[in-house]
Amino acid sequence: MLEVPGWPGHLAGQHVDVRLTSEDGYVAERAYSLAAPADGERIELTVQVVGDGEVSPFLGGGLSQGDPLEVRGPLGGWFVWRPEDPSPVLLVAGGAGVVPLMAMIRTRRLLGSRVPFRLAYSVRTPADVYYADELLNPQPGDAGLEVSIMYTREAPPGGPPPSRVRREDLAQHGWPPELAPLCFVCGPTGFVEAMADALVALDHDPARIRTERFGPTGGT
Ligand SMILES: Cc1cc2nc3c(=O)[nH]c(=O)nc-3n(C[C@H](O)[C@H](O)[C@H](O)COP(=O)(O)OP(=O)(O)OC[C@H]3O[C@@H](n4cnc5c(N)ncnc54)[C@H](O)[C@@H]3O)c2cc1C
Repeated sequence: MLEVPGWPGHLAGQHVDVRLTSEDGYVAERAYSLAAPADGERIELTVQVVGDGEVSPFLGGGLSQGDPLEVRGPLGGWFVWRPEDPSPVLLVAGGAGVVPLMAMIRTRRLLGSRVPFRLAYSVRTPADVYYADELLNPQPGDAGLEVSIMYTREAPPGGPPPSRVRREDLAQHGWPPELAPLCFVCGPTGFVEAMADALVALDHDPARIRTERFGPTGGT
């Protein structure tokens, strides 16, 4: 959670650039999605620590309460959900790619929107589910939100075996293309490309598929 003096508000799906400057003047800047609607001047980020990364280990461990950070934003005007749009929404997330999609779910909840939402969420293991409490336990205001979680490495006992998300999974957990849903796909680059291709193969209008790529790595 960051307090950003003068924060102007933002749309669900937008991100900020976080800039770190070391004592010798070296600058590192990375993008992080806004994870929730703004609460006045307070914004929320969710950072997956990439082991050998430059910025994420610092944000995930090296930062103490009260430390100043440089933040630029809100940024991005395409990968956003506008609550006045009545189209059904399909959210497709791989790993930390759920962050901007969570902002859309939370915005829908906050506004009491009844726009139908479906989330198809791919993670490695049950321990890797971000926002597990919020997504796995029905929250007031979430009627009309359907959540499907798919596991790629280790699945909970009694459920289907682990598998990568396939085209038929998107057909099952998404919307029929005739309903012209707005599709938001976010995650590692390889995941996003595979999911966008699968949606096109299922006859979804490419103009209604919005993607956000988080990193250079493939797969989930
Ligand atoms: C629009 C946008 C929004 C983003 N939102 C978020 C967010 O909400 N939460 C979040 O955790 N990240 C998010 N990212 C990714 C983030 O910007 C960084 O790329 C990530 O935190 C890694 O930065 P780093 O400095 O720790 O690693 P780097 O020093 O940049 O890279 C270290 C190593 O990790 C690899 N790597 C880089 N990025 C990733 C990645 N995303 N996944 C796996 N391996 C990677 C690199 O190839 C390299 O080998 C977003 C990216 C974009 C473009």
